[in-house]
Amino acid sequence: MTATILDGRALAKTLREELRADVQTFTRAMGFSPTLAVVQVAGDPASERYARTIRKGCDDVGIAFQDQTLPAATSQAGLEETLRSLSADPAVSGVLLHMPLPAGLDAAGAIAQIDPRKDVDGIHPYNAGLLAIGQPGMVPNTPAGGLELLLRNGVPLKGRRATVVGRSVVVGKPMAFLLLQEHATVTIAHSRTTDLAAVVREADIVVAATGKPGLITGAMVKPGAVVVDFGINVLDDGRVVGDVDFASVVEVAAAITPVPGGTGPVTNMMLLRNVLRAAHTWARQADSSPRDATRVL
Ligand code: NDP
Repeated sequence: MTATILDGRALAKTLREELRADVQTFTRAMGFSPTLAVVQVAGDPASERYARTIRKGCDDVGIAFQDQTLPAATSQAGLEETLRSLSADPAVSGVLLHMPLPAGLDAAGAIAQIDPRKDVDGIHPYNAGLLAIGQPGMVPNTPAGGLELLLRNGVPLKGRRATVVGRSVVVGKPMAFLLLQEHATVTIAHSRTTDLAAVVREADIVVAATGKPGLITGAMVKPGAVVVDFGINVLDDGRVVGDVDFASVVEVAAAITPVPGGTGPVTNMMLLRNVLRAAHTWARQADSSPRDATRVL
C-alpha cells in the first residue's frame, strides 16, 4: 500500500480563500477589520521570523496586524500590563503572546492576563478547561489544524481507535481531547509509555507530537491506519523531518501528512480563523465578563 498524502498546503490555500471572504463580510458589516496584536520580547530572531510570517498571513486575508514588540529588558509587570491593556482594547480582536519568553519572565503569569475571548492561541487555562469538558472555546492552533486535515479529507473518527504520542499542553493533550469530541477512542502515549510500538499498532489514527525525528516507524503502524505528524525537526544537514519515518510509514498507512507541507501550513490558518472568531465574539459580548462570554464562545 502507498498512503494518500494529506496535503496541508492545498488545505491551507482553501482555508485562506474561505477566510478572506469571511473577513471581508465581517469588515463590511462592522466597519472595522479584525485585528491581531502579536506581543513579543525583542531580541529573539525566531520570534521575529514568526511574527513576519503571521503578519504576511494577516495581510493576505485582510486581518489588521499590530506589532507589540517590547524592549529586551521588559519586566514581568510591564509584560502583564501590556497584555491586560490589549485585552481591554476594543480595537484589538485577538492577542498572541510569542513563546518561549526570555529567561526570568513567567509565562503562566503572563498568559493569565489575556482575556480568554482574545486568546487566539488557545493557551489560557480557561480555554484549556473548556476543551477538557467538551465546551466550545479557543482551541490551540496546531491540533485544530490536525483535526481539520482529518475532517476535510473525510477520515472517519467516530468509534475508531486513536493513539496520540505526546502529551504537551499545546499539541498532544488538546489533540486527544479533540479526537475524543469526535467520538474516537483515544490513548495518549508519552516518554514513559511501556511498549510504545504495541500502543501505536492498535490505532486506526496515529498522531505524533514528540519532537523526536523518525520515532514512529512503519513496523509500528497498523496497515491502513491514518497518520498525522506534527513533528518539525531540523536535522544537522538542514533537512526538516517529522516524528514519523515517512519512507517506511508511507508504505503501510492509508493516509499520512508529510513534513514539511502537512500540519504546519494549516496551523497558521487556524490562528487567523481564531482571530476572526474572536472578533465576532468580542463584537457580540464586549460588555460581558470573560466568564459569561467564554460560555458561549
Ligand atoms: P514537547 O517537547 O512539549 O512534548 C513532547 C512530548 O513527546 C512529551 O509529552 C513527551 O513525553 C513525548 N515524548 C518525547 N519522547 C518520546 C518518546 N521517545 N516516546 C514517546 N513519547 C515521547 O513538544 P511539543 O508538543 O511542543 O511539540 C511536538 C512536536 O510538534 C515538535 O516536533 C514541535 O516542533 C512540533 N510542533 C509542530 C507545530 C505545527 O504547527 N505542526 C506547532 C508546535 C509544535 P513526556 O511528557 O513524558 O516528556
